[in-house]
Amino acid sequence: MPHYDVVILGAGAAGMMAGIEAGRRGRSVLLVDHAKYAGEKIRISGGGRCNFTNVNATIEKGRDRFLSQNSRFALSALSRYTPDMFIAMVRDHGITFHEKTLGQLFCDGPATQINTMLLGEMRKAGVTMVLETGVEKVERDESGDGFAVQLTTSSITCDSLIVATGGKSIPKMGATGLGYQLATQFGLRLTDTRPALVPLTFETGALDKLKELSGIAADAIVSHGKTSFEEALLFTHRGLSGPSILQISSYWREGDAIAVDLLPHQDAGEVLRAARKATPKVQVQTVLGSVLPKKLAHLLGEELDMTGMVGDFSDKKLALVEQKLKAWTLKPVGSEGYRTAEVTLGGVDTRDLDAKTLGARNVPGLFFVGEVVDVTGWLGGYNFQWAWASGWAAGQAA
Ligand SMILES: Cc1cc2nc3c(=O)[nH]c(=O)nc-3n(C[C@H](O)[C@H](O)[C@H](O)COP(=O)(O)OP(=O)(O)OC[C@H]3O[C@@H](n4cnc5c(N)ncnc54)[C@H](O)[C@@H]3O)c2cc1C
Repeated sequence: MPHYDVVILGAGAAGMMAGIEAGRRGRSVLLVDHAKYAGEKIRISGGGRCNFTNVNATIEKGRDRFLSQNSRFALSALSRYTPDMFIAMVRDHGITFHEKTLGQLFCDGPATQINTMLLGEMRKAGVTMVLETGVEKVERDESGDGFAVQLTTSSITCDSLIVATGGKSIPKMGATGLGYQLATQFGLRLTDTRPALVPLTFETGALDKLKELSGIAADAIVSHGKTSFEEALLFTHRGLSGPSILQISSYWREGDAIAVDLLPHQDAGEVLRAARKATPKVQVQTVLGSVLPKKLAHLLGEELDMTGMVGDFSDKKLALVEQKLKAWTLKPVGSEGYRTAEVTLGGVDTRDLDAKTLGARNVPGLFFVGEVVDVTGWLGGYNFQWAWASGWAAGQAA
């Protein structure tokens, strides 16, 4: 039976990085994936331009940008494999990139350049990869120290097994629950999982109104409790999307409301008071239409009871309008789910993993990396940085 030092399940971002690092250390490595191609999520990421890291995904700046039941867990790997290290590899491969906003680095060209780079580095490190190969069974080998892995094509053994099979998001791209099943099989705990970085949906009545705004984008501050994100908000025919909504979806829970400030840098009160003086007969919705998309101003007027001539609005009423515009309260009923979620929140419980190596505390030789672990980054390159850093950390130890 063929034997490898390290077998890695899942040829996504974390699995490829783990393979590169283990291979560079001279370990014999087999990387297995049931998909036709490696790095399918990298290929479609960042709108096809791969937001491959964020310059702020460091322990100094990014401490609060990784959600987990143990918010400190990710810091060890992130402090040892930094965005600068990944950027250096990108530069070495001649891949040009730009910062779009908020520290987010995107390729200038297609995202497939990142896959080509990782595949090239794997080749250099001597990693063997088999695709279109499923995993039927994993168990301890006869020695009790290694693992026996039954693939759809062959049986192999290994000293170390790295599980990098990702989360549940986008099942049609190959996501399965294998990582969670293996964690449970080997006695590791799981935290609750849910779709994150996902558009939010609304009940039919509210949706019918929002649908009218489909396609409109606005800069907004979206809040849930004390957490706020100021980024674009997009009205769609299914509800709300755009970066600010995707970000808040990681914090929102069923039954909660979110607050939307559609005029983050405008003094709506000032605009309305000036209009009251200059054009008192003009409708409030028309005035708002000078600072907001017109259709949106119209809907807000109806929704928030802000109709009538601006001249008829007392100071008190104008203050109320201003207040409503700063915190338009909406109650989503759900999300679009794993079908469109960029990531899965929750996963393998970090209490059962060593933060330095990503190794299972009670199962020597078993490692979990990337999205399958209960670590979820903000939108904007944080999730890939976690995949690189956790894959690298396990590749160093496996
Ligand atoms: C549309 C979209 C856009 C995104 N854009 C960005 C972005 O720009 N920046 C960013 O930081 N993050 C982005 N993300 C998130 C990012 O893609 C993930 O965080 C990252 O891919 C996780 O890496 P991973 O290696 O842990 O898992 P994955 O990349 O999901 O890889 C898991 C691999 O395991 C394989 N696998 C699963 N089950 C089995 C099985 N049973 N047998 C064999 N193989 C199996 C899969 O085929 C897959 O190749 C995006 C996600 C999506 C869906």
